[in-house]
Amino acid sequence: MKLRTLEIALEGLEGFGRPDPRIEQYSTPAILAARLLHHAHLLGDIEGKAVCDLGCGTGVLACGAALLGSGRVVGVELDPGALAVARRNAARFEAAIDLVQGDVRDRSLIDGLGTFDTVIMNPPFGAQDPHADRPFVDAALALAPVVYGIFNSGSIPFLEAYTAGRAEIEFAVGGIFPLKRTFAFHRHDVVEIEVEILRIRRR
Ligand code: SAH
Repeated sequence: MKLRTLEIALEGLEGFGRPDPRIEQYSTPAILAARLLHHAHLLGDIEGKAVCDLGCGTGVLACGAALLGSGRVVGVELDPGALAVARRNAARFEAAIDLVQGDVRDRSLIDGLGTFDTVIMNPPFGAQDPHADRPFVDAALALAPVVYGIFNSGSIPFLEAYTAGRAEIEFAVGGIFPLKRTFAFHRHDVVEIEVEILRIRRR
């Protein structure tokens, strides 16, 4: 499937009904979700693979993985409201995705999910809680040997230090995250955040 075809398919999905800023609920823009998935697919990390989407929100990444022919797909998400949207999005694609309500910081939940080939995620950037992405990185590395994530541009040095001895960080591709005015505290209609899609390989 072409990158553009995937992007168009993902653009049609339903977004967050009532996004909660405290847990940084921003829908992953279709263009970024498609980039991440396309890249992972080209490297053989999606088709026929067991894939887990951490903080799956409305399920954009999980649905895209299913569309690209992944094997088992599981999405983990804290917010039941977002999961209801993810369920509708999955139904739209007729995608068999297991949706699990829970907290990625809950180690027994993570251990109970089994193992995966690939984790895909758009974790909180840490705008509200500076270290919110750390438990996502930890859970991801516990679940799979290969992890794709969307991070703030410039995160590589931090991630390298945080995962030292555990993983290697490979730059995949850069992008822009157009953050539309979603919350009252936003002062601009659209803020563009530079992001990078990283591939993290467990040692
Ligand atoms: N890719 C998704 C959402 C990305 S935003 C989409 O496009 O819809 C990050 C998501 O992580 C949000 O849905 C938020 O509810 C979820 N989240 C934040 N902290 C979490 C935690 N500790 N455990 C599980 N999910 C969490």
